[in-house]
Amino acid sequence: MTTHSHVILNIAFLSKRDKPNLHPYAFIGAVLPDLPIFIFFIIEGIILKTPQRELWGTRYFTEAWQNFFDIFNSVPLILILLGIGYYLLNSEKIIVFAWSLLIHCGFDFLTHHDDGHHHFYPFSDYAFESPISYWDDAHRANIFAPIERIVILVASIYLYPRLKTRLARWSLIIVNILFVASYLLFFIFRSR
Ligand SMILES: [Zn+2]
Repeated sequence: MTTHSHVILNIAFLSKRDKPNLHPYAFIGAVLPDLPIFIFFIIEGIILKTPQRELWGTRYFTEAWQNFFDIFNSVPLILILLGIGYYLLNSEKIIVFAWSLLIHCGFDFLTHHDDGHHHFYPFSDYAFESPISYWDDAHRANIFAPIERIVILVASIYLYPRLKTRLARWSLIIVNILFVASYLLFFIFRSR
């Protein structure tokens, strides 16, 4: 799923009315699994200037980069972190952070077709091929994309009164506007 969808959904799921101070930990947990892809793009695409075709066609699939992506999408590693949060440190912040990582992996598991992550790293290379892709029309993105926008809008309406800062509230509004606009641009106009 798109990173901003993860952010809005995870904060909505993990938000407690009286504890807005935990929102940043849900935020970091929602973003972190996708962060290595941005780092990959900055290093390979912008600094090393690898051509786009080679970037996503071969470089993306090299073992070193795949391992780097997998570390942040590994359910076993996240479960260890969750255990540390619950039993060792008894830290609500780490628990919310780990749950957010886990929820991110859960949604990715269901919305990636042939670009799924190795969620069982380092024990297995298995990657689930979901029948649904969040971006690929060949795998029902044309159906999933509008549903994703509606779900995010509903989650945003639920989350809005729970956000305490003006920055967070405006970010939520702007992300929703851009998200609907991106749907119109890429999914409707492209198919004409
Ligand atoms: Zn992801």
